[in-house]
Amino acid sequence: MHETDMTKALILTIEDWLADQPDHPPVKTVYLTVGEFAGVEPASLQFAFQVQRQNTCVSTAALVIENIPLVAFCHPCQREYRPQIGQQYSCPTCNSPMEEIRSGRELKIDRLEFMTESAAPASPSKQTVEV
Ligand SMILES: [Zn+2]
Repeated sequence: MHETDMTKALILTIEDWLADQPDHPPVKTVYLTVGEFAGVEPASLQFAFQVQRQNTCVSTAALVIENIPLVAFCHPCQREYRPQIGQQYSCPTCNSPMEEIRSGRELKIDRLEFMTESAAPASPSKQTVEV
């Protein structure tokens, strides 16, 4: 299951980052940015997180997933468009196949929220999870 590996990588990334901050307060919320085209099912990711967070640094944390729509760029038309599965992701104007994805593939930790926000260190900025 793809999401299981993704979640492992996600939790490891957070643990790595928190290891440098021994006095950090408990993590309250993990905000994740997931592209529509990232190949991840948000519900499966949520489920995997609930299972795998046990005995980790995010054992009491909630996962909030922000979905990013798929946006492609058509070179012949020089414009961005929203690809549709029904049209094989091709450009709706000139029918060119999808060549360049501008957004929608992300899988990033957007930020962490801590239990005591006032004592929180700076959040990691846009860390990409390498799987
Ligand atoms: Zn086009």
